[in-house]
Amino acid sequence: MDAPELVLVLRYRKAVTYGLHVLLGALETHETSTRYEVRFGETPEATAAHIREASATATRVLVLWSFYSPDAEALARELAQIRDLADAPNVAHVAGGVHATAEPVQTLDAGWDIAAVGEGETTLLSLVDAVGDPTGISGLAYRDATGAVVRTGRPQRRPLDDFRGFSLRWDRFNALEITRGCVFSCRFCQTPFMFSARFRHRSVENVRWHVDAMRRRGLRDVRFITPTALSYGASGDEANLDAVEELLATCRDGIGPEGRVFFGSFPSEIRPEHVSREALQLVKKYCANNNIIVGAQSGSDRVLDAAKRGHGVEEVKRAVRLGVEEGFRINVDMIFGMPGEDQGDVDASLRLARELADLGARIHAHTFMPLPGTPWRDAPPGDVDPETISEVDRLSQRGALYGHWQKQRDHAARLAAAAEAYPRPGRSRTILPLRTECS
Ligand code: SF4
Repeated sequence: MDAPELVLVLRYRKAVTYGLHVLLGALETHETSTRYEVRFGETPEATAAHIREASATATRVLVLWSFYSPDAEALARELAQIRDLADAPNVAHVAGGVHATAEPVQTLDAGWDIAAVGEGETTLLSLVDAVGDPTGISGLAYRDATGAVVRTGRPQRRPLDDFRGFSLRWDRFNALEITRGCVFSCRFCQTPFMFSARFRHRSVENVRWHVDAMRRRGLRDVRFITPTALSYGASGDEANLDAVEELLATCRDGIGPEGRVFFGSFPSEIRPEHVSREALQLVKKYCANNNIIVGAQSGSDRVLDAAKRGHGVEEVKRAVRLGVEEGFRINVDMIFGMPGEDQGDVDASLRLARELADLGARIHAHTFMPLPGTPWRDAPPGDVDPETISEVDRLSQRGALYGHWQKQRDHAARLAAAAEAYPRPGRSRTILPLRTECS
């Protein structure tokens, strides 16, 4: 067999595989005249070995990376390490995902050759057709021979049904993405920026196709990726329980008696105002999870308004009470250190955390991170004062609180420093007082 013209080396980190699996799902049904091969680099050393071997025979080698903003700095160091181990003129490192989309210049300066901007499926397919040559392909940022940044614009956003949500050919499975984009516009969140502020849902028939394929492969657990689980089938703020039931019923049926369906638990989440007895009963009827995740974010209505969450504290309490009454274990996401948060807001959040913990909920604590692409990208990093830390510690000792909120404080500080180093044109880093930001 002829040597491949193009080798795609995936920097395949076990913890973050989803973004690469959807690319493989798109690739496996794509017809192209390019002879290509895919290799998985599970460690920096293995990635370098693939690069060394492939670059000796292929016309081009693209090394594909996908990562979130908090990991960008550590992965830039890893990229340098891989380049030291193996490099050649026909090798290009391509970074995709939300960080590369929001901060393409930062990504190029950090060492990647190409930043893939926006949804990656169509961009990758075009790159494969062009044997890895980025010229003229939309969805990319790279430097030309003079060092100037070339931006080719966002690629077209396609319906989810156009591409597979995982890869049969390479046997790489993951929670199935049922909804992309989000009509809510929480100011700390990268989802609406990355995927647009409207929902695109995978059709029930297409979801069923995936579930049938999983069952044939002997897989038994169906999980979903969605920005807001009970929004499945909806076009606006309200939940669409008929669509949710249709989805869950077909998944339950498709995965068979030995299978399990998980909905509203990791890695999807439910907005508090969508929690209703009917919705919880649907989950009980069709799903195996006895826990759900509810996004609360703050115990202060003032902060929730400023974050444009679209719900208040009362809805959170109501959701948790209903969930407990229906026999669910409730995990509640909360963010400490949001922009403009004052001591009164922090106290309100701690009060809410204690109250929900007393009801039996577990608090998943986060520290606010000024994420690229979000309206709060230029906000100061989240910080949490020592007294809040001790209270939060007391709750974790009771088993009522968990999360990587301390590590996120470090990420937040690094992201804020990066935002300062790469100011957006016309923006100063000063954040307006919280009340002024609420409209
Ligand atoms: S936090 Fe959730 S509801 Fe808010 S914009 Fe992001 S995905 Fe949508």
